[in-house]
Amino acid sequence: MSFAAPPSSIGALRRRHGFVVAALVIIVVGCATLTPQEQDTVADVQHFADGTATAYNLPQIRVTIEPATNLGIGGRYRQGNFYLNARTLGSGTPTALVAHELAHYVLGHEPMSGPSMAELQRAQELRELDANAKAVEILMRVRGMSETEAVRTMVTHLRRAQGVIACGGALAPGHRLPADEIANLIARFPDSAPLLAGIEESIPLDSRDPRDSAGALAAEKPTSRSAVAAIPVPVPVWKPGDTWTFCLQSPTGNGMYVWSVDREEMVEGVSHYVIKQGTREIFYRTADLAHTRETVNGAVVRQHSPSRIRYVWPLEVGKIWEQAFREDRPVDRRTTEWEDTVSVEGEETVGVPAGTFRTLKIAYRNTRTTAIRYEEWYAPELKNPVRIRERLDSGLQVRDLVAYRLQ
Ligand SMILES: [Zn+2]
Repeated sequence: MSFAAPPSSIGALRRRHGFVVAALVIIVVGCATLTPQEQDTVADVQHFADGTATAYNLPQIRVTIEPATNLGIGGRYRQGNFYLNARTLGSGTPTALVAHELAHYVLGHEPMSGPSMAELQRAQELRELDANAKAVEILMRVRGMSETEAVRTMVTHLRRAQGVIACGGALAPGHRLPADEIANLIARFPDSAPLLAGIEESIPLDSRDPRDSAGALAAEKPTSRSAVAAIPVPVPVWKPGDTWTFCLQSPTGNGMYVWSVDREEMVEGVSHYVIKQGTREIFYRTADLAHTRETVNGAVVRQHSPSRIRYVWPLEVGKIWEQAFREDRPVDRRTTEWEDTVSVEGEETVGVPAGTFRTLKIAYRNTRTTAIRYEEWYAPELKNPVRIRERLDSGLQVRDLVAYRLQ
């Protein structure tokens, strides 16, 4: 399984099948380019691989970390070796990805030859479906998960892959659409299917390739949602486990990130929600969602003084506020003074890959120049914006919601 891999050209498929020795592979295990946390993750992945080899009575399999620049493929298995992209180490063990690659090993999925590319492609697609199902068994036998937990782990992983495609990412070579792989997996574990209902509601499960139709996809969904429920809109209550997945498109590249509420924590005596985004933690004041600080691996990388007011509650059309604050970025040794005038401009219905939502459009302008620097479309129903448009020095950056789960 891999993310954002190149389209299934012969070259890509060959890399996938391992016909070609990848000259790009360099071994960086134990190398100083990995943080201590990433080295722990590598050790955990190797431990997982060793446990799997023991459980299935197979020779040990070696884990090799490939540089993050290598093709964007998350992981692959080839003849007794398991390659993992360094990019996947950022937020702990990529359990589902590792289980899937180990499943190829356990199932003996060695390079194939066939009479035609079409037949090879079909055979590879079936292998991927088998690997997803075997991964569930491995998660149960080696990681001690229940069947439902294991299926949920794989479905969550595939849902992210679906999000990547919704962001314009290419389908991983050899794979069917993630939505089809999810359907196949659930069909194989009917006992767990009813228990998965909660996580499926928010997945864009349309089986058509959403790469060139994300807008159409959203527009075709019935707009049965009510108007912005209550105006003025009150401050929302976030709960641990609330999760929003955004697709980010900017001049420097596209990507997807998952935002989830982890906990509440006191910062200088004031209660804050802590949002996790990989190794980054973002602190929003519980009372009004003002943005106070961000940390990466526990170190402060951004601090606002005073906290940046994102909203003045309750929200209603026509409301305007001003704020001056200082932004410190200690790692970059940069300090910026901001003076914003913010206005709730109106109600808008917005279609994003996650669906169509009633929103309030909020614009942040530079008070001195009146230039818009940041706009967002806040959906009260989802307790967060569904679209954010930001004018950066490098150009326009747009974030669209592709999936969500509210507790
Ligand atoms: Zn695979």
